[in-house]
Amino acid sequence: MTERFESLVLGLGAMGAATVYQLAKQGVKVAGIDRHHPPHTQGSSHGDTRITRLSVGEGAQYVPIVRRSHAIWRELEALSGQALFEQSGVLVLTSSPDFDPADKTDFTLRTIGLAQTYGIDHELLNAQQIRQRFPQFAHVRDDAIGYFEPEGGFVRPERCIDVQLKLAEQHGATLYKGETVTAIASDAQGVTVTTNQRTLQADKLVISAGNWTGGLLGDPFQGLLSVYRQQLFWFEVQEGAGLEGASPTFILTHGRGDNKVNYGFPALPGEGTLKIATAQYHTASQPDTMDRTVSDSEAQSMYEHQVHGRIAGVNGRVVKSAVCAYTVTPDRHFIIDQHPTLQHTLVVSACSGHGFKHSAALGEAFAQWCMRGTSDLDLSSFSLKRFEGKPS
Ligand SMILES: Cc1cc2nc3c(=O)[nH]c(=O)nc-3n(C[C@H](O)[C@H](O)[C@H](O)COP(=O)(O)OP(=O)(O)OC[C@H]3O[C@@H](n4cnc5c(N)ncnc54)[C@H](O)[C@@H]3O)c2cc1C
Repeated sequence: MTERFESLVLGLGAMGAATVYQLAKQGVKVAGIDRHHPPHTQGSSHGDTRITRLSVGEGAQYVPIVRRSHAIWRELEALSGQALFEQSGVLVLTSSPDFDPADKTDFTLRTIGLAQTYGIDHELLNAQQIRQRFPQFAHVRDDAIGYFEPEGGFVRPERCIDVQLKLAEQHGATLYKGETVTAIASDAQGVTVTTNQRTLQADKLVISAGNWTGGLLGDPFQGLLSVYRQQLFWFEVQEGAGLEGASPTFILTHGRGDNKVNYGFPALPGEGTLKIATAQYHTASQPDTMDRTVSDSEAQSMYEHQVHGRIAGVNGRVVKSAVCAYTVTPDRHFIIDQHPTLQHTLVVSACSGHGFKHSAALGEAFAQWCMRGTSDLDLSSFSLKRFEGKPS
């Protein structure tokens, strides 16, 4: 039997959960489908915490999106009674032997520039102030620079997804979990989505399949999207280090290149750990065959190259680790566009690496697209067209 809806959402991770919630809230007859049981640990939306900051050094186009997301996280907290968004403050800092104050690519300088342009509340810190305020950065170089944004912090990805899916169901959404979409077709009347268990039809479809987008849709997405395995580490905090309550969410640049940047989160009360991670963009993986365990040598290498001598108050003991994967476009910006051949279909994936902080507002924008074909947010810079004629 074929079931009919006004909208379908394929993939219920960060983007899909937000979309299905916003649609259901507006009274749209919507169904969401996910091959796993979100929130789960197989995609891009797990690992306890995600950085959020208003001065999005990745680009000015993201500032209105993250602002709106912050407001929605607070609405969701009020509705659910769950803590989703912790305003711990975000410290973006560069402490690097290669630092050049005129370098326009330096992430800290870009963040400062954007905050100044958009009037985002922040403080500029020199090395002495960084050391005094944040004991974990006691080792910064004398020429270190810091940007502290009090409104930034982190969100809890699993809880955000769970809350939005539960609220969506309360508003009447149908969720098919543990069900894999195997085929998608469209015609003038709408879309037909086939799963391993049923056939669904709808007027509109939003595809937010994360790591699996390229494999599911083929080109041009397959050629444009690369999946990169990332490792997350929770290092043990040393007794008496004074980090609890004193460490912010942070992004530390300590040299040139992707492998000279790490980021982390506050030492949370009662946990006794500090989560620290890096991003790698050199070795691509396949989502279904990726190694999801972190080896001892990977943990050791992380400590030696990213933590030792850079982040004080933690020792080399890894209490917990996880693997999570980015889906990345050639310019590392999002793709949000109508599918080039499937009618009535919006593709919203490849927001990996830095998408979670925007997901609440993007879900609202995608719901608006389903209902009226446009969104309040300007998403034109994420179009597929920017890659036309460029080798992938
Ligand atoms: C290690 C790591 C750290 C990150 N840090 C940050 C950060 O600090 N701040 C930030 O803003 N962002 C961060 N991000 C990025 C952010 O988490 C992602 O952009 C976001 O979670 C992606 O959400 P998504 O909905 O696109 O993908 P996912 O959440 O992975 O959802 C995709 C869903 O689609 C489902 N699916 C796929 N194929 C099918 C199919 N055929 N049928 C049915 N279901 C299907 C999957 O099961 C999955 O649930 C990080 C990402 C990673 C991996």
